[in-house]
Amino acid sequence: MNCDKSEIYFNGIHQGEIDYILSISGFKEGTFPFRYLGIPISYKRMAIGDCTRLVEKGARIFVIPVTVLDRVTAICRNYLWSSSDQYGKAPSVAWDALCTEKKFGGLGIVNCRLWNQVLIGKYTWWLTCKSDHLWIKWEDHVYMKGRNWQDYVPSLQSSWTWRKICAVKDIFKHGYHLNQWCDGKFTVAAGYIWLQGSQTKAQWAPVVWNRLNVPKHSFIAWLFAKERLLTKDRMRAFGLPIDGVCDLCDMHTEDHNHLFYHCAFSIRCWDILRQWLSVSLPTQDILHWCVKWRCRSLLKKHLVFAAVVAFLYNIWRVRNLCRVDMVVHSPTQEIM
Ligand SMILES: [Zn+2]
Repeated sequence: MNCDKSEIYFNGIHQGEIDYILSISGFKEGTFPFRYLGIPISYKRMAIGDCTRLVEKGARIFVIPVTVLDRVTAICRNYLWSSSDQYGKAPSVAWDALCTEKKFGGLGIVNCRLWNQVLIGKYTWWLTCKSDHLWIKWEDHVYMKGRNWQDYVPSLQSSWTWRKICAVKDIFKHGYHLNQWCDGKFTVAAGYIWLQGSQTKAQWAPVVWNRLNVPKHSFIAWLFAKERLLTKDRMRAFGLPIDGVCDLCDMHTEDHNHLFYHCAFSIRCWDILRQWLSVSLPTQDILHWCVKWRCRSLLKKHLVFAAVVAFLYNIWRVRNLCRVDMVVHSPTQEIM
């Protein structure tokens, strides 16, 4: 039994009486929150950590149908691209690419499908290691009946849940040996990284996710780095009936390179930034230059990264303003 002193005082019971009750009952005084059937119980607002545990436990207990996971993903995806749970526009970046870590070019959003597989994978790991859990012993006795779990194939009469658990086992069984998880400890985090496969580092990630950046600047710079901003050439490639002329200069076709490097407006913007920072910024591949740039002062480096990313954001912002009101803005007025 878990008791909370403040509640008992409230009911008019004194500390001496509490001590007496505890001594004769054999109960121990506990604290909130405590767990009942794995669920945290508390009389006051629960911390985020308590709820996280609850979410993880829920996802770990159930093999969630793919349709449900895809629906959750769709809501997250629609919110990211359209600020709504309803489908608004086509995503600029594939969800799988977006779910990779930031250092690998994604946004670090959890992939629901993989996460659920990994959580179930923890159970299959327990079965692989013959863990001393009652549930594992029951599964071993009822389903496997002494057969080798690694090669076990469920019968067609097996339940949907059991067949799904076996399918997850088949995904992970090589990983358990490759990573020596059977000799040590399998963690959900390690399993999730393994399931994502080998990935290539995005060189530009430290610039785009520089700690001094404004978050909305980082997001646009991330799309810029992936060349996924919806410039007019891309819109036309999707079949949208628009003219392809750059609204900022009204002369050339608007594509990624023109908008950010070759347009008269952008050239003027970068000139302003060069003077302001007293740094020889390049006229092309700005993020690549940032990655290679050597600077003794780490603070100055972070500040230059933040300024570059802010300028990318503002070029894109002014371009969008120009599309709406058809007025070409002054770089000095809009950017600085
Ligand atoms: Zn232009």
